[in-house]
Amino acid sequence: MQTLLVGSNNAHKVQEMKEILETQGLARILVPNDVANFPSDIAETGSTLEENAYIKAMAIYENTLHTCLADDTGLEVDALQGAPGVLTARYAGEHASYTENRAKMLAALKDVPEAQRTARFRTVICYRDELRTLFAEGVCEGMIAQEERGSAGFGYDSIFIPQGYSQTFAELSTEEKHRISHRGLALRHFEEILRGLE
Ligand code: IMP
Repeated sequence: MQTLLVGSNNAHKVQEMKEILETQGLARILVPNDVANFPSDIAETGSTLEENAYIKAMAIYENTLHTCLADDTGLEVDALQGAPGVLTARYAGEHASYTENRAKMLAALKDVPEAQRTARFRTVICYRDELRTLFAEGVCEGMIAQEERGSAGFGYDSIFIPQGYSQTFAELSTEEKHRISHRGLALRHFEEILRGLE
């Protein structure tokens, strides 16, 4: 079984990706603390999720020489013409906290009625090994809640209601979130691609 470095400095995301990939038994997972020379700060200078995932995977591979995958995620809100998208982490400013980002989103949608609060999370994964660079995508449709609900998860989880549910991501169990989330879908798509190459 190969080892695969899950490359992110976001502990929540690393934990989610590790849980999902280990459930699939695809690879033995390494996290940034397991390897030497993991780059501490990679500037996400791309203008798309694909570009940023690629920039991160390349930087991690070049520094660590480990087969790795990196992801970039955006929240696309229809009433905001697809924003914040690639700027999701920095929606309320360069070093904005999750709380500040959620507050800005709820304020931006204050007068937007329920039917127009549709949104989606999109994750792009970039995998890099010595021979290949592969991409996989996962999309989770849903809507932005009127107020925060739930305490699980991270980021925008407490204000995102996935399609077909009444609860926010932050009110679902981690297993349920992994089953339907953008990141879970992207990782399962990636697994199919990788198995097809074996
Ligand atoms: P990143 O650039 O891929 O780290 O993700 C951008 C931002 O999207 C993060 O800072 C989080 O605020 C948000 N985000 C990513 N994935 C999730 C998720 O699964 N739930 C809630 N928010 C998320």
